[in-house]
Amino acid sequence: MDDLERLVGAEHVHRETVVGDVAVPGRAATLVRPGSADEVGAVVGWCYAHDVAMVPVGGRSGLAGGAAVLDPDAIAIALDRLDAVRSFDPGLWRMEAEAGVTTQTIARRARESGLYFPPDPGAPEQSQLGGMIATNAGGPHSFRYGVTGDWVTGLEVVLAPGELVRLGGAVRKDVAGYDLRGLLVGSEGTLGIVTAAWLRLVPAPEAQLPVIAAYPSSAAGCAAILRVPAAGIRACALEFLDVPTMDAAGGAFPGGPLRGFVVLAEADGSAGEAARVRDELRAALAEGAERIYAPQQVGAIRDLWRWREGVSHGVTAALGAKLSEDIAVPLDRLQEAIEETFAIGARHELDACSWGHAGDGNVHATFMLPAGDAEVRARADAAAIEVFDLAVRLGGTVTGEHGIGVLKAGRLAHQWAPAAVAAQRAIKAALDPKGLFNPGKKEA
Ligand SMILES: Cc1cc2nc3c(=O)[nH]c(=O)nc-3n(C[C@H](O)[C@H](O)[C@H](O)COP(=O)(O)OP(=O)(O)OC[C@H]3O[C@@H](n4cnc5c(N)ncnc54)[C@H](O)[C@@H]3O)c2cc1C
Repeated sequence: MDDLERLVGAEHVHRETVVGDVAVPGRAATLVRPGSADEVGAVVGWCYAHDVAMVPVGGRSGLAGGAAVLDPDAIAIALDRLDAVRSFDPGLWRMEAEAGVTTQTIARRARESGLYFPPDPGAPEQSQLGGMIATNAGGPHSFRYGVTGDWVTGLEVVLAPGELVRLGGAVRKDVAGYDLRGLLVGSEGTLGIVTAAWLRLVPAPEAQLPVIAAYPSSAAGCAAILRVPAAGIRACALEFLDVPTMDAAGGAFPGGPLRGFVVLAEADGSAGEAARVRDELRAALAEGAERIYAPQQVGAIRDLWRWREGVSHGVTAALGAKLSEDIAVPLDRLQEAIEETFAIGARHELDACSWGHAGDGNVHATFMLPAGDAEVRARADAAAIEVFDLAVRLGGTVTGEHGIGVLKAGRLAHQWAPAAVAAQRAIKAALDPKGLFNPGKKEA
């Protein structure tokens, strides 16, 4: 351990520290906080030379246990001291930022210059660029703008056995090699450690205008969701919250208490374009709606999205705890996914609910639980397995955005053919021959 203190400074090596994430909190015997990309390289080099496992740690807002330390001898490597925006060229719509910069800081810096970084996972003060890249995080506006990887043109990353390399950069096109950048995106810290990234930005939309519609049933709400793409409407966000989710979280809805199956859509663009698309959304969502709310004031719209970020906590508060998954299914199977989640819950005598990024078919299938009840938790774990099987049966995936982490370890083998699983394992063995990068995570 003296070696690590020499590499990063004694004050940046911590013993018996709280780590893990929202889903799997825990402790690390040793946590190091390198202060530069070179120091990350040196720490990885030391770990590789001494056969010590490493767990990269970002903002710890992950929901799959990816940042949990499973091996008592592993060291956690926190990236929070790499918090510099290395360069920002508003006129070229690009930024180079280090892995520890928070999602909120990137979005704010872009906005201050009239630009927009669209990926918007729901814990922006906490999540960091490196964690977003490692999980390829999405968010409500992924429906129009895509996920984090769609905005990354280059990566600086430490690969085994401690080499700092650059993949891509400030170039918008690059097909020179295999897409190693794409491979690192979403790899959950199992192939290397991201130290910085080059990001693509776009001019910020002048206006963002939401429409919220409440329906009596999931059938009516899902029919409304399908009318949006069918009518050729370019919504930037298309979210849903089912009836029990609104029972748990609708009391705090900023437009006054709201119940029912809720669809939250948003239009953006120039003021004129956003207003036109908002009117199209309103027309498409009107059929069967019991209430429509379409705030226009910036403050009211901000309150709406802040409420949306808090929905997960509202559902947790209903009974004290929850088990929430993030399956994704083809859009035309959304209603089945939502209704089958209820059926699975009923079979296991659990209160179920769902909400999520409807336009992406991304469903947070959730079972509400009393806190600390092991017997109910065991039933919820069994129900979650059925939710994963449901996702695969509907032609979807066991995880649309949170990743496999440790919580879904082993589930990929139920989704992919054996040859595809073998290819994933071969990639891991090629890039991390000693298996030291985040062991036990993203395992097929
Ligand atoms: C309230 C709430 C709402 C959320 N909403 C969304 C949502 O809408 N969409 C969504 O996609 N996610 C969502 N999330 C999940 C989470 O916020 C994102 O996955 C986030 O991007 C994780 O970033 P982080 O820095 O907190 O990563 P961490 O939790 O610290 O780590 C996540 C994974 O990335 C790895 N990692 C971290 N940093 C690096 C690095 N520099 N190099 C290599 N590997 C690294 C870790 O080892 C781990 O496997 C939500 C979470 C919360 C708490």
